[in-house]
Amino acid sequence: MLASFLAERKLKKSKRRDAILSAFLAMETHVTAEELHRVLSAEHPGIGLATVYRNLKLLASCGLAKQVSLGGKAARFEHAFRHRHHDHLVCSRCGKVVEFLDSEIERRQESIASRHDFTLESHTLEIHGLCGSCRPPR
Ligand SMILES: [Zn+2]
Ligand SMILES: [Zn+2]
Ligand SMILES: [Zn+2]
Repeated sequence: MLASFLAERKLKKSKRRDAILSAFLAMETHVTAEELHRVLSAEHPGIGLATVYRNLKLLASCGLAKQVSLGGKAARFEHAFRHRHHDHLVCSRCGKVVEFLDSEIERRQESIASRHDFTLESHTLEIHGLCGSCRPPR
């Protein structure tokens, strides 16, 4: 999938891109470019933060990664390849993230799109609030 995408765009396969991709795939989390850069810098000190960010954007545009915000200022990326679609609950105090899938919500979005003559391609749903440990006791 990535190989054909790169070929289509005449982007060369590179050692750096391979290193970034495998580091990203090894992380089962919602990662910022900075966090991934930190992990990479031990073994690949030559790879700059901008390169990491550019490659994450590239992975997102070919559907291997999905960009989410999860309440922070920096974009976060998670695996989209061989992962089921899901939505997120985010605690605005501690940053805890819960992934969920609700078939009713998914179905409703399809019907909203078609009601407005849209074909749904993707959507991002984030629910922000306080988790059980951060919520002040009543
Ligand atoms: Zn969804
Ligand atoms: Zn919390
Ligand atoms: Zn997720």
